[in-house]
Amino acid sequence: MVSTYIFDLDGTLINIRIYSEMYLEILKLIESKLGLFGEELDIKAALFGLVKGDHSRYDSGDLCRELGLLAEYYEILDRHIKVRKRVHDDAFLVLSELKKKGLRVGVASNSMHRTIQSYLNKYDLLEFVDFIFSSEDAGRRKNDPVFWERLIAAEDLVPTECLIIGDSKLEDIEVPGTFEFNGFYVGEGEEKLRDVLKNL
Ligand SMILES: [Mg+2]
Repeated sequence: MVSTYIFDLDGTLINIRIYSEMYLEILKLIESKLGLFGEELDIKAALFGLVKGDHSRYDSGDLCRELGLLAEYYEILDRHIKVRKRVHDDAFLVLSELKKKGLRVGVASNSMHRTIQSYLNKYDLLEFVDFIFSSEDAGRRKNDPVFWERLIAAEDLVPTECLIIGDSKLEDIEVPGTFEFNGFYVGEGEEKLRDVLKNL
């Protein structure tokens, strides 16, 4: 019996197009503030242990944090967070429905804690969420089993009673699956976010 629903953030509860929209602005910021771009930026990023992810982009938040530009990052993010109606409606419907049924709702994300909170707040979802667990809280990202180990301990979870909902087969399904978490993949051509409610 599933009693705890744990959602990924990027690409699951929110649309990730925002990151590509703001990436160029982030690069310009770094160049204007620190004179870093191109290869020099890559060298610096490598020193921080950052690697380019999907779409050959660094995680803007991680990059700005390491470069001491977090205040500027959040200024840009806040300007770019727009509520996208369809994504918002689905996320709102699913989370509010789960809460109505008295179920526990969490968010597990590689984003920084403050970023997750900004999004949930902007999308009016914060009131439905019982806990947020970020890569900062874990000291690891979701592709690392230690992330899930620490989440289990932090929230006192029984993995077989939890459903992880996400758009990454590796990070949201396979890795947590090794702890016997149940998984619900919302990737392309697969089930959609609102289908979570079908299994209630
Ligand atoms: Mg995701």
